[in-house]
Amino acid sequence: MKTYNEKRDFSKTKEPKEVPLKKKNGEERIFVIQKHDASNLHYDFRLEIDNTLKSWSIPKGPSTDPSVKRMAIPTEDHPMAYASFEGVIPQGEYGGGTVMIWDTGTIESNKHDEDGNIISLEESFKSGSIEVILHGKKLTGNFNLVEMKGGKMKGNWLLMKQDDAEADARRNPVSTQSKSVVSGRTLKQIEQEESEKEN
Ligand code: MN
Repeated sequence: MKTYNEKRDFSKTKEPKEVPLKKKNGEERIFVIQKHDASNLHYDFRLEIDNTLKSWSIPKGPSTDPSVKRMAIPTEDHPMAYASFEGVIPQGEYGGGTVMIWDTGTIESNKHDEDGNIISLEESFKSGSIEVILHGKKLTGNFNLVEMKGGKMKGNWLLMKQDDAEADARRNPVSTQSKSVVSGRTLKQIEQEESEKEN
């Protein structure tokens, strides 16, 4: 798989360039979900793991219904700075289309070993089974992200809400809370405002 920087022409896109970055000890980890109106509308789910944003493309977006499994297709690591990117990637460039910060917040691993100790997100990612608590504005509580190890969908992952106090089968935040959590804008407003800036 080509890396993030290799896929992009930074003279054309305003997306941030990948630069090496080390996190300070004790600083909270983050997640971001970017709604991305590219050739197909999808939701990019990114978790801070190993000083980078491990990334999955979720065609239908996340669900708060614990009986629903959502396909999550792994994509290239994105730089930490990408978590604050909201704007328009020019048509013809990789991922051309509008990007909205649909949700963001902090995360913590909630996966435990037999002795009850927390297993790191790094180790969980490597094993293909992540249990994470999201502290977002739209999404909160426990989610599982699990790699499929066999069958036709091998290599893809599934995102599932755990059946906890924050689970809600009727909420459907993808359709009922469709705007940016940082700017309050719709995809259309982001697109319009960004193109006005250019002209
Ligand atoms: Mn995308």
